[in-house]
Amino acid sequence: MIGLDEEADPGPTGSYERLRILLGVSGGIAAFKAPQLVRLLQERGHEVRAALTRNAPSFVAPLTLEVLTGHRVYGDDYLGTGNSGEELHLTVAQWMDVLCVAPATCNALARLAVGLCDDFLTTTAIAFEGPVVIAPAMDSVMWRHPAVQRHIETLQTRGAYIVGPDVGRLASGETGIGRMTEPEEIVLAVESTRRKRDLVGRTVLVTAGPTREPLDPVRFISSRSSGRMGFALASEAADRSARVVLVCGPVSLATPRAVERVDVTSAEEMLAAVTRWAPEADLVVMTAAVADFRPRNRSPNKMQKRTIERIDLTSTPDILKSLERLAPQALRVGFAAETDDIAARATAKLDGKGAHFIIANDVSSSDVGIAAEDNEVTVFSRHRPPLFIERQPKRLLAGRLIDLLVVELEERDRKAIATPG
Ligand code: C5P
Repeated sequence: MIGLDEEADPGPTGSYERLRILLGVSGGIAAFKAPQLVRLLQERGHEVRAALTRNAPSFVAPLTLEVLTGHRVYGDDYLGTGNSGEELHLTVAQWMDVLCVAPATCNALARLAVGLCDDFLTTTAIAFEGPVVIAPAMDSVMWRHPAVQRHIETLQTRGAYIVGPDVGRLASGETGIGRMTEPEEIVLAVESTRRKRDLVGRTVLVTAGPTREPLDPVRFISSRSSGRMGFALASEAADRSARVVLVCGPVSLATPRAVERVDVTSAEEMLAAVTRWAPEADLVVMTAAVADFRPRNRSPNKMQKRTIERIDLTSTPDILKSLERLAPQALRVGFAAETDDIAARATAKLDGKGAHFIIANDVSSSDVGIAAEDNEVTVFSRHRPPLFIERQPKRLLAGRLIDLLVVELEERDRKAIATPG
């Protein structure tokens, strides 16, 4: 944490509504992840209640979900009328914005597909007209069965979002398809059902990953950057309907859906690609860990050890800084990985690099930030107090950051309209 007055993080703002979610948990081993899913949804600002099928309590304690949700868990005993005589499945169906069934066992899928109403969850599902997210979990052989596949098709035809299952270790000890997708993915699927397309018509340019500055045919200067933060931001922006160009150094990550990817190796190549795309961008987010130096000369032959001791280095171009000239129209965002004096250094980079935002992360601990799954950041901008955003998976953090940037883009639009020319 840094020592400045920080704003409280308002939580989901731009793209996500705060949703009321009924989490239906059916009786499979993956039900042990239900409490974690509840927590993640709550951390994103959503309100969650849980409904358990008859067998689910063998896998997750109703009391756990009751304490976490702060609400009675709906089970079979809730079928019919509640204490005040109202029909509870109808009341709850009115209350909720999204139904999420996770895990959905083979049996739960069948009952949902056929439209049976033999417990609270399935009855409420039939009484509900909104979006339904289903995360199946079962053994591979069961998942591949034509009956299960037919049920999935039926549910999809009706508009249900099927998320997963993943390939991985199964309850049987075997590895195969059927594992419930990770709670983080389920959260994204739930939110995507109600997502605003708030980047439609905008072009977003993202840089990601390390650069490699060659010394000779086998050696290079580089960093530990994995590219995950940039890929997460590109993926989030594309999900929100932006046109996204992702310029990335050498990384081993799959290209996110609907993203135009440009692969580069060195800082010079990254600058060339950014120069090509920046004039079209409304938003540029530079997450790349560009090498600060490169060998002045690249040796055509493998260098001998004693010559390496005397490598002559020169600075690489500062790509973010050059955006002031290349993309004066764009909202410009840099990242800063620091180990100390974070606030002072990040603030200096706002001016030094002509950026509107610097998103700083403390990389003194190895389990957040560079090459890690999670990140926690402080957002520095010119006109607002720093905003600390707590540790979370990078893909979820990307949603928070794009929320903030969308607000800023919209503000700029309003100002442009107010002061034409
Ligand atoms: O100066 P520092 O490397 O800490 O700045 C980090 C920010 O500047 C990041 O957004 C990074 O992508 C960008 N940068 C750049 N070109 C460089 C060095 C850094 O665009 N040569």
